[in-house]
Amino acid sequence: MKTEKKTLWFVVGSQHLYGEETLKQVAEHAEKIVAGLNGSPKIRRDVVLKPVVTTSDQIYRTIIEAGADQGCIGIITWMHTFSPAKMWIKGLKNLTKPMLHLHTQYNREIPWDRIDMDFMNLNQSAHGGREFGYINTRLGVSRKVVTGYWQDENVQQQVADWISVAEAVDESRNMKVARFGDNMRDVAVTEGNKVSSQIDFEYEVHGYGIGDLTASIDNVTEDDISAKVDEYNERYVMSDELKSSGAAYASLTEALKIEAGLENFLVAGGFKAFTTTFENLYGMKQLPGTAVQNLMAKGYGFGAEGDWKTAALLRTMKVMGEAKGQASDRNGAAPAGTSFMEDYTYHFDGENSLVLGAHMLEVCPSIAGGDVRAEVHPLGIGGKEDPVRLVFDVPAGRALNATMIDLGSRFRLVVNELEVVEPPAAAGTFGKLPVARALWKPMPNLETSANAWIYAGGAHHSVFSQSVTSDQLRTYADIYGVEVVVIDKDTKLTNFRNELRWNEAYYR
Ligand code: MN
Repeated sequence: MKTEKKTLWFVVGSQHLYGEETLKQVAEHAEKIVAGLNGSPKIRRDVVLKPVVTTSDQIYRTIIEAGADQGCIGIITWMHTFSPAKMWIKGLKNLTKPMLHLHTQYNREIPWDRIDMDFMNLNQSAHGGREFGYINTRLGVSRKVVTGYWQDENVQQQVADWISVAEAVDESRNMKVARFGDNMRDVAVTEGNKVSSQIDFEYEVHGYGIGDLTASIDNVTEDDISAKVDEYNERYVMSDELKSSGAAYASLTEALKIEAGLENFLVAGGFKAFTTTFENLYGMKQLPGTAVQNLMAKGYGFGAEGDWKTAALLRTMKVMGEAKGQASDRNGAAPAGTSFMEDYTYHFDGENSLVLGAHMLEVCPSIAGGDVRAEVHPLGIGGKEDPVRLVFDVPAGRALNATMIDLGSRFRLVVNELEVVEPPAAAGTFGKLPVARALWKPMPNLETSANAWIYAGGAHHSVFSQSVTSDQLRTYADIYGVEVVVIDKDTKLTNFRNELRWNEAYYR
C-alpha cells in the first residue's frame, strides 16, 4: 500500500522594485534550489517550481490552484528578495494545503571580496523571510519554518520529514476506516465523536455488522487461501504444526480464510484502516490475529476493541514513516516500522524501569528484528478456536508511542519518546510469552512518563513507531490545529502539568 506519487509546489516571492534583471536572477536561483532538492536522495517526491510571484493577484491564483489540484499535497515558499507581505494576504487567507516556509538563501557565504549593494538587493532572504513570517503569524496561518542552507543534509532532512507529514495529511483527507462491530463494552478511551474526527481530520469512519465480514469470508476461494499460504511461507517461519503436514494446518487455513475475506472487503471498499473486537465475532471461528498482523504489515491501520481513532492514527503514521522504509524493504537494516501497541506490564527497577508492550495478538511485523514465526496457541478470551499469530521480538533502538484521545470538546495527541531495549541479560528471554512484544524504557523514566501520560489522559492503546519523529507529529497536529503534548528526555512533571493547564485555556 504505497502512497501515490504526488507533488509539492515551490513558490518564490519577490516584487518588481528591483527590475527585470533581478527577477530573472531570482528565477534562475530558484531553479537551482529546486533542482538541488529534487536531487537529494532524502526527498522522494517531485518539487515543482512555479513562476516567481510578484503581485497579490498572482499569489492568490497560485494558492487557489494548489488547493484545487488533487496532485499537489503542499506548498514550499521561499522569499528570495523582499516580498512585501500585504500582497500575500488574499492568497494566504485561501490556503488549504500544508505549507513549509523554507528560510534559506541562494548563496551559502557572504562574498567578502566583491560584496556590493547589488548583491545585497538580490540576496535579502534574511529580511524577506521575516516580512513573510509576520503576515503568516498575523493571519494565524499554520506552517512549518525551516531555517538553514538548502544544500545541507540537515535542512533537506527537515524538508523530507515535512513532505512525509504532508503526505500523511493527504492520506487522512482521503481515508476511510471500516469498523467491524462496536467497542469493547464499557471501555471509555476507545470511544469518541466520529463527527468531530471527520471535521478535524477529514477521514471517514464506516460501521459494519460482523455478518458483512463473514459474508466476505464465505466467498473466499481455495485459490485465495493457497495464495495466502504461499505468501506466509515466503514471509514467515512456519511452526511445524502449521506446515501442510502438521497437526494444526487446518487452523492456518482457517486464519488465512479470515484474512483473505477481510482483505477482499477492505480492498473492495477502498478502506485503509479497520477495527475488530473480540466481543463481536459471531460466525467467525478465530479472533483475527495473524490476519490483522499481516494486513498491518501491508500498510493498513488497525485498532483493537473497536478503537477507530488508533486505527486512523496508525494508517496516518504508517504513511508519515513510509519514507524511512518498512522492514521488508530494508535488506537486513534495522526495522523502521509502525505498529498497533499497548502498554501491558511493568518491570520496576528504579531509573531503569521498563514497559513490556504487546497485545493479545495484534502487533505489526514491520517493527520486528529477526525471524517472524507463525504459531498457534490457545487464547483465554473470546471463547473461540486457538488463533494463529505471528511472534517476534523488537530490536533495541529509538521509537515513540502516540495516542489520540477525545476530550469531549477537542482531541489531544499524546506522544512519548522511548528507548527500546533487550530483556535484562540475567533473564535474556521472554519465557513462554506466545505473542509479539517490545520492551522499552520510556523517556525520561517510567515514573515521569507514566505520570505525565496519565495526567494527559493518554490511552492504553497507542501507535508505536521506529520511523516517525515527535517533531513530525507536532507538525501534523499543528496543521490540524489539534493539541499535542510530547513526553521526552527533557520532560519535568511540574512543567508538563502546567502545560496541560495552559493548554486548557488556549484550546477553550
Ligand atoms: Mn487492547
